[in-house]
Amino acid sequence: MRIAFDMDGTLADLSSAYAEIEERLFGAADEEAKHPAPEAREAEQHSRRRTSARSRDQVWRAIESTPDFWTTLKPLEDGAVKRLYELTSEHLWEVFFITQRPSTAGGTVQRQTHTWLVEHGFATPSVIPLSGGRGKAASALFLDYLVDDTPQNCVDALSESSARTILLVDRDDHTAQASALRIGIGVAHSVHEALDLLVEANAARGNPSLFEKLRRLVGWK
Ligand SMILES: [Mg+2]
Repeated sequence: MRIAFDMDGTLADLSSAYAEIEERLFGAADEEAKHPAPEAREAEQHSRRRTSARSRDQVWRAIESTPDFWTTLKPLEDGAVKRLYELTSEHLWEVFFITQRPSTAGGTVQRQTHTWLVEHGFATPSVIPLSGGRGKAASALFLDYLVDDTPQNCVDALSESSARTILLVDRDDHTAQASALRIGIGVAHSVHEALDLLVEANAARGNPSLFEKLRRLVGWK
């Protein structure tokens, strides 16, 4: 099987790192914003959108100026990258790591991502930094499966390739789950759960009735 994994929000915890930088830059202001004086509320609502766009730019500038920022992220789930590596050897999967991370100070995105994956237990990662959408990549790589935390990436892969997709969704996000299933995107609540699904899909290869059962259970079209 040929499988691609997204990085941020799937394997690597970008949002905690982002929140830490945001707090470092705007910590005090944020506290004030949580408990504004009543008369300040209306004015604040007016300016909030503009402020948040500006602060987002500042956070990204801080990220981009941090040397080798992409090597500093924490994994989202303990042992998931290592387990993926073990499964890859066991089942002879061809695995790709695809990402649209912006470049930062230090090494290239590809090199930083490679370093991170090796550090977390995937000894021989193939990292593919993309500048376009995932659909064309999924098609060119003849992917069988894509694991991603962004619905749009799954939709792109579905519409432009024959890959089946597994979307990572919070357990309590019923809306996201329902809309994913409606268009044939499979859903998992963790990378470990996605890996379980891939192991089942692997076992069902060459057994059409077993695969059909799994396909219906997962919601793949
Ligand atoms: Mg992502």
